[in-house]
Amino acid sequence: MTRQSHIDSLPTDPASGWVLAHVLRMDGYVPGEQPRDGRYVKLNTNENPYPPSPRALEAMRAAIDERLRLYPDPLATPLREAAAERHGVGPEWVLAGNGSDDLLTILVRTFAAAGDAIIYPMPSYILYRTLAEIQGARPVEVPYQSDWSLDAARFATEAAATGARLAFLANPNSPSGTALKPDAVADLARRLDIPLVVDEAYADFAEADCMALVAELPNVLVTRSFSKGYGLAGLRVGYLVAHPDLVANLTKVKDSYNLDRLATVGAAAALADTAYREQTRARIVATRARLTAALRRLGYQVPDSQANFVWCTGGPPATAVYEALKARGILVRLMRYAGHPPGLRISVGTDAEIDTLLAALGEIVAVAGGSTS
Ligand SMILES: *Cc1c(COP(=O)(O)O)cnc(C)c1O
Repeated sequence: MTRQSHIDSLPTDPASGWVLAHVLRMDGYVPGEQPRDGRYVKLNTNENPYPPSPRALEAMRAAIDERLRLYPDPLATPLREAAAERHGVGPEWVLAGNGSDDLLTILVRTFAAAGDAIIYPMPSYILYRTLAEIQGARPVEVPYQSDWSLDAARFATEAAATGARLAFLANPNSPSGTALKPDAVADLARRLDIPLVVDEAYADFAEADCMALVAELPNVLVTRSFSKGYGLAGLRVGYLVAHPDLVANLTKVKDSYNLDRLATVGAAAALADTAYREQTRARIVATRARLTAALRRLGYQVPDSQANFVWCTGGPPATAVYEALKARGILVRLMRYAGHPPGLRISVGTDAEIDTLLAALGEIVAVAGGSTS
């Protein structure tokens, strides 16, 4: 066989020849912009505006040596033990992930086969849809009610009707920042006979969380992230808490070494630094209250947020406002959901960043109001 005849047999468009049909059809998840230069006031991806715990940085510096030659602990044991202690469970209830997104992937691969349904409320974290699509599973989206409460009976009926194998609930939710109370989540879990993943990426900013439900209800699994509450988005660490039988099976599905050595020690040290976490949380919660009030004075509708961002609708056309802010060096997240007008999701930055945002937004809204009246 000559080389030429081999080349002739290759498709001219390699992707359409080889990539699985369901992947070809996908749009893929589009993360918020991460500009490479630091000239933007960056309020678009809910990073913590404050640096990570100095103890976490110190622990990681101390781990940068010849031991990097060796593979890390497959279960990130120091982190697993620190998380278990924090939540009053045994380490066998905890699984660490390379960001909580890694855990969401593991959950989908463990519970849903191609063709199965995965159910979650909408508008919410778009990655749930992407993960379902990658798996060849069917996304089933149940709308939130207009006050961001969830009709649990309807959700359970849809889950049963579609034969869903897995449910996601971002709580606090993105983009709304609202949260269902633990009682409402427990009620939802009791109506379902499938795993309910409570994605608590923003629980560090909320008044309540659902961690206590895990021991009570075997179908509740809770995920946490170091990206928002701990200011460690760049490190990529999260963990989940679930019944040990579930954790044992999820462990089979994960990558062997899903956390690196530095991430394991850094996250464990950050978790132990409770005082630092409380301090940054208090600052963000105070700035959030000020931002919410100011946006409402500008005419925006802003639900009370339990997260480190706020959701703004009802002002001048959101796309134009997003562009005008970007032109002034301020990045916020423009969100579009089918059936909803576009809105702006604004991360709670430092007080100085929020002052800059509010000054710019005040001018943009005044001009937009003047031009339409
Ligand atoms: C940011 C976010 C995540 C991802 O967190 P990582 O730990 O950075 O992977 C998961 N869920 C929701 C709802 C988020 O907003």
